[in-house]
Amino acid sequence: MEDKKEYHILSLSGGKDSTALAFFMRDNMPEIFEKLELVFCDTECELPETYDYLNKIEVFLNKKIIRIKPEKSFEHLMLLHNYFPSPIKRWCTVELKTKPFKNFIANKLNGNKKPIINLFIGIRADELQRAEYNKYKNKIIKEIYPFVDYGLSYSDVMKILEKSGIGIPKYYEWSNRSGCYFCPFQSKNNWLNLYENHPYLFFKAKKYEDDKNQKNNNNYKRVGWNMEMSLGDMINPENVKKIRKYSTRVRKNYLQENKLYNLLY
Ligand code: SF4
Repeated sequence: MEDKKEYHILSLSGGKDSTALAFFMRDNMPEIFEKLELVFCDTECELPETYDYLNKIEVFLNKKIIRIKPEKSFEHLMLLHNYFPSPIKRWCTVELKTKPFKNFIANKLNGNKKPIINLFIGIRADELQRAEYNKYKNKIIKEIYPFVDYGLSYSDVMKILEKSGIGIPKYYEWSNRSGCYFCPFQSKNNWLNLYENHPYLFFKAKKYEDDKNQKNNNNYKRVGWNMEMSLGDMINPENVKKIRKYSTRVRKNYLQENKLYNLLY
């Protein structure tokens, strides 16, 4: 009887947990690591720091990352959808990440009779509830959570990254999230940080709003990427002051709670 083909895949997000998992597997699951495919769903709209971090991971692990790209660029998809993605209508994730990943898996099924696909996910033992939102739960893909199985939590992840020498992604110096530069989930303060750290990307995002408003003769109901304020209004000095004041405290608390403060400052 023909052996079933078996795949081992680790989906990197460009963040710390999935990166730590790759290093953890190298050190603790070497037989699987050897066959492991590191994949990253590249929206082609990621932060420059994310691309730098991915390059660094490849060097540190001496392993190539498979970068899965969407069939259509964000610009193209925006023309087709004709409205901004938002926390309510999150078409960006479906088009830029979920569909390309499903295609990647579908290619593995081609010509293979019921292969075994083990998908390794960097969910930690202290965030078990996230495992409930299992997107790919089906008979073909088996999701595996090594950090949960080994009981590893946030502090363990930080230790793995420190010990390996890779550290945390550079965007943590000004942002607490990975993802697209225009992500509608980011706070107003994060937008201002993008403005300061990558003005080119901020203005690229702003151009989408300006073009849209112009086309709609300023009657467009939703302001733009952010539900409350346009990017143009956000960089108005009065608003900058208000946004900064509110968020300084929130940011410091976040870093301290997550023990990142001492690593960065
Ligand atoms: S990072 Fe944000 S903008 Fe990018 S796909 Fe995910 S939800 Fe959408």
